[in-house]
Amino acid sequence: MRKLLLSVLCSLLAGGAQAQATPASTAWPHGARVAVSLGYDDTLASQLDVALPALQRHGLKASFYLQLSSPLLQSRLAEWRRVAQLGHELGNHSLFHQCAGSLPGHAWVEPARDLDSTTAAQMADQVLLGNAMLFAIDGERERTYTVPCGDHQARDGDYLPRIAAAFVGIKQGGGSGVTARAVLQRHAVAVYAPVGLSGSELIALVRAAGAQGDMVNLTFHGVGGDYLGTSAAAHEELLAYLASHRDEYWTDTFRNIMRYVRAQESADGHH
Ligand SMILES: [Zn+2]
Repeated sequence: MRKLLLSVLCSLLAGGAQAQATPASTAWPHGARVAVSLGYDDTLASQLDVALPALQRHGLKASFYLQLSSPLLQSRLAEWRRVAQLGHELGNHSLFHQCAGSLPGHAWVEPARDLDSTTAAQMADQVLLGNAMLFAIDGERERTYTVPCGDHQARDGDYLPRIAAAFVGIKQGGGSGVTARAVLQRHAVAVYAPVGLSGSELIALVRAAGAQGDMVNLTFHGVGGDYLGTSAAAHEELLAYLASHRDEYWTDTFRNIMRYVRAQESADGHH
């Protein structure tokens, strides 16, 4: 009887160990439980003026997703270049920020920048040109992409398969921005864009990620200014929390996090 019980226990444990195999091989660097990617979309002045100094004060790295047609890119080019020199990522957010004009709430989409009337091949050409422009700014040959509005159905189909190979990771939008490490797909990573949340609400988001999954992506727009804003104080509170809990939360550029995931995929034999 005891022998039977033992063998049942053993097989249960073995089953358990098998189920745990994927997460065990995918721990984050330095034993952190959660990877945190902070993204700043749309080439906004408040990101240079408010978000960047805050990141520097706390020694945290982030990704800035540039819309390359933005006048702010040219007028503050030296500052964007410095963002990259400081170890942050300059990510691609397309040339013209094409979103689907037909979707609810998208009345603001300009006809010439409507994803509904742009072909997948045109989008791919533009996004890849965006990478060439970014290379001219920061000299980096690898980076990540955030899909404008999360819309990727062009006039004649999905454009993401045409650009995926050019990026180590792609954020597509959707849900709470939390992804379990075991099901993470580098070219379809969920992202959440908080607007108007308090510092404690932002901290609650990253803490929930610790309980529900292994990675959380937050995309900010304005910080202490501009639109879809997060207050400077709330942003500061989140950064202070992440900086004082580095053992638990690995905050880094999305490029670095995705490179780490890719390296683990090769180690595990997935491609
Ligand atoms: Zn955007």
